[in-house]
Amino acid sequence: MTLALSGQVVEAGIAVGQAHNIQRNEIEIGEYRIETQRIDGEIQRLLDAVREASDKLQDLALRLRATAGASGEEIVRAHLAMLNDSSLVQAATEHIRDQLCNAEWALQLQLEALLAEFRSIDDDYLRSREEDVAQVVRMVQQQLSEESEELPLSDVPDRLGHTLVVATELTPAQLAVLHERGVAGVITEHGSPYSHTAILARGMGIPIVMGVHRAQSLITEGEQLVLDGAYGIVFADPEPSILNYYLAKQSESDRYRQNLAALRHEPASSLDGQPVCLLANAERGADIRQALSDGAEGVGLLRSEYLFMQGTPPDEEGQLAHYREAVDALEGAPLTIRTLDIGADKTPELLRFESLRNLPNPALGLRAVRLCLREMDLFQTQLRAILRAAAYGPVRCMIPMLTTDREVLAVRSLIDELRLELKKEGLASADTLELGGMIEVPAAALALESVGRKLDFISIGTNDLIQYTLAADRVDENVAHLYDPEHPGVIHLLSHIFRTAKRMQLPVAVCGELAGDRRYTRLLLALGLTEFSMQPRSLLEIKKVIRETDVGKARAALDQWTAGEAPDLTLAQMLNQSQLNH
Ligand code: PEP
Ligand code: MG
Repeated sequence: MTLALSGQVVEAGIAVGQAHNIQRNEIEIGEYRIETQRIDGEIQRLLDAVREASDKLQDLALRLRATAGASGEEIVRAHLAMLNDSSLVQAATEHIRDQLCNAEWALQLQLEALLAEFRSIDDDYLRSREEDVAQVVRMVQQQLSEESEELPLSDVPDRLGHTLVVATELTPAQLAVLHERGVAGVITEHGSPYSHTAILARGMGIPIVMGVHRAQSLITEGEQLVLDGAYGIVFADPEPSILNYYLAKQSESDRYRQNLAALRHEPASSLDGQPVCLLANAERGADIRQALSDGAEGVGLLRSEYLFMQGTPPDEEGQLAHYREAVDALEGAPLTIRTLDIGADKTPELLRFESLRNLPNPALGLRAVRLCLREMDLFQTQLRAILRAAAYGPVRCMIPMLTTDREVLAVRSLIDELRLELKKEGLASADTLELGGMIEVPAAALALESVGRKLDFISIGTNDLIQYTLAADRVDENVAHLYDPEHPGVIHLLSHIFRTAKRMQLPVAVCGELAGDRRYTRLLLALGLTEFSMQPRSLLEIKKVIRETDVGKARAALDQWTAGEAPDLTLAQMLNQSQLNH
């Protein structure tokens, strides 16, 4: 009899196969006292375990470079940075010394202290980082316990085709190993859609449902499973009608993906001849190269804050090296580097800034350019690195979260000063640097005439623009039903941006998730968008919709909808209907 289980939606995709339960390698963390003369030995035991765990992660990071792409490697490296962070190991060492306790317990004490610190911050993104810290600590504790084994996955077969793994929870490293072994899908009892494990699953395209309560006890080993990632549903022992429905859906989607590959070298232009520029949102060389091979014409968004998620903030040379990696990968194609967007739902490193502690409302507080203009050392270092990178290729600079023209002027004059400074120091840098702004704050959209006056281009950050327009937190599932890109308020605001930018002859891109979501491609085309920047995985899919759209007809449908002439249809329905031959 079919058993239907539900969990959190993380990555759309269908998987059909046999269940394989992997048991969590639970270890008892006991506390015992040690003699004073054993302190040094116990500290050494801790350091050895950290080194061994670190070697394993290093090794995994290198393997992942080949199999799971740059994002997989990056996430494991973030764990490595956490492992080597002094607030973990140093503090545990001090616990051993002060409290005369064993290394496992010392780590546990420090883990609890760090978790308490995380929990005092009301922020979903940071809460999901708790999982990372706990996973890293567990890895060292496992190393300390005699029965440690590599990534508690020794009971998992080497080849996992047609297998759906069911686990209590998975670390990104474990997920990456499952991917290497060809896992068809994953079900976990715990984990949030914002965790690194979830981000990695999306990047690797693994169908996954997280937060399926009691999955391990409800699903029997070897049982037939169907996973529907788009709805966050798992069917155990499905009846033939369900199974056949999903098998058919799966082969349809396989065919669809294969057909997409044929579009790689086709132009991205609409049925009525409107050329469209497709760009990638990407940070690392490997992802950029992949995007170029799928037809991207450059990078429209490099989120530089990712560089700051890995422990010690990179200095000017470190940033320059990273940006140059991107410039080199692009081989002459344009690169848009967004200056740091930290604050609100972004990056734990920001905790180190005094100015960011205890903000009453982080999403409306010091974030992005607001923070950069406060933390001048940090900002100047980044702008210097961007100016220097621009000596090697077509680099543009983009400011996130603009609210007023004063911010644009402040950044412009800073760039001018730094250019002179670099010249004096004899360092190669760009003579001119195009400066763009992200339109994410509704007031900046409404006042584009003034905010955009001194900008060379704009890019609409729909993720934030929608959240701020609708006053609906983008990471709060309680208000997810309000987060509607087709809300008339959002459409009016977007239309206003496109009309104003056209008048001002200001180039406009969209780099929020909307640009890579095929449900909204026709809407964006109808609004007048000709530059889409998106996660590389969506490039071909979006190109397909563009090639199947008559922009003139879509625009007429949007005008009709705006005039309230088809109240019974949703905007998406009208846009799709407009494409049918009459
Ligand atoms: C956006 O807000 O749409 C955007 C692209 O920026 P981020 O998602 O990084 O805030
Ligand atoms: Mg944003």
